[in-house]
Amino acid sequence: MNKTTPNSILIVDDTQENLALLTEFLQYKGYQVSAARDGKRAIKIAKYISPDLILLDIMMPGIDGFETCKQLKSCDSTKDIPIIFITAKTDMDDLVMAFSVGGVDYINKPFHKEEIFARIENQLQIQRLNQQLAASEFNLRELLCEYQQQSDQLQQIVTLVVDGLIELNRSGNIQHANPAVEKLFGYSAKALHSVNLSRLFAEPYATQYKNLFSHNELESTKQGIFKEELNVKNAEALGKRLDDTEFPIEFSLIKNPSNKNMYLAIIHDITIFKNKEEQLLQLTNIDPLTKLSNRRYFDDHFEKIWLQGQRNKTQIAFIMLDIDLFKQFNDTYGHQAGDDCLKKVAQSLQKNIKRPGDILARIGGEEFAIVLPETSKEGVIKIAEQLKKDVQALQITHSASSYKVITISLGIAIADSYQSSNILHQMADDALYQAKQSGRNQYILA
Ligand SMILES: [Mg+2]
Repeated sequence: MNKTTPNSILIVDDTQENLALLTEFLQYKGYQVSAARDGKRAIKIAKYISPDLILLDIMMPGIDGFETCKQLKSCDSTKDIPIIFITAKTDMDDLVMAFSVGGVDYINKPFHKEEIFARIENQLQIQRLNQQLAASEFNLRELLCEYQQQSDQLQQIVTLVVDGLIELNRSGNIQHANPAVEKLFGYSAKALHSVNLSRLFAEPYATQYKNLFSHNELESTKQGIFKEELNVKNAEALGKRLDDTEFPIEFSLIKNPSNKNMYLAIIHDITIFKNKEEQLLQLTNIDPLTKLSNRRYFDDHFEKIWLQGQRNKTQIAFIMLDIDLFKQFNDTYGHQAGDDCLKKVAQSLQKNIKRPGDILARIGGEEFAIVLPETSKEGVIKIAEQLKKDVQALQITHSASSYKVITISLGIAIADSYQSSNILHQMADDALYQAKQSGRNQYILA
């Protein structure tokens, strides 16, 4: 209700004197006043101007106050207007009647002006409060409706989303799981209920998460791991399906914002991502021309194999080799021929280096390195001989060579008495140099 607009009041009385008196007084009090001298006219005016309140005389010719009131209350546009009866009658039946037809109050004649004012203000205040209440209720209903819509949308998202969403209690037992969880892990929703979250993990994650919940570490401030764990947005882990197959997942655990006794777990299948990562890793470890391992791979793995050999007290054979007079080959036949030659030599080497633990890498322009774990002196010499023979057998014409075809020189070192992988590398390098000095197309054992 706008405060700058004065309240409007309709006075209905068949006595001219009363009308004049009340009109003057209520206008003086700041109301907008309309007047009617009988019921019929009152109803007409009320429908037309919708007053904020009606003062209604009971005793009138024609339709009396009660009937007027009934008609006003039966009409949609006027039913909410508060009506105060003005009456000279004081018997109980009339008063009961006044309220039963819809009046909100009554004033006895002869009236006191200030009493009228007080009762009018009282009703207007009640009306204002009612209107505010109705508005609040309306807003509340709108909010509820909005909330319901959001809730429905959220439910849809939970149902349709490809990520697994799980609600857990404090013991880590599953309370709810969305359809994605069933799909990811192969369980039915029913089978998942009350099952511990750890069931969905492969080791070592299963034990890790089982402990996390069973020790109630989630709640313990001392267990920093747990608190941190909770804050980790994307922890990688291994999921385990019903059929025991494993797959990489990204796992997040958060407190349920709407229920502090519950946790929400979000599970994202990262198989595709991991495969891509693996492919990428392979790409960065492979020489694009020969498809052999590259220098980076060699450096990463040589040291590991070396250390393993030291631990197991097994021999490691190491071969450094390069293509003889390759610069002259390039100068004579061009770089395309040079690349083709490298590819053919690489393929030829690859044929003889086939054990899973062996490394064959192109580590420079025409330089290759071979690491052969658990290989004896006799074994590596046999391989070196074969490599040399096979490359020569490729019969790649090389006019500048005294053999007239492409050949390789090899330096071999065996690691059982050397102190470090660097020394082994150096020994093989030196042996290779000697092989070159001694006329190429041969191997030298350091
Ligand atoms: Mg009268």
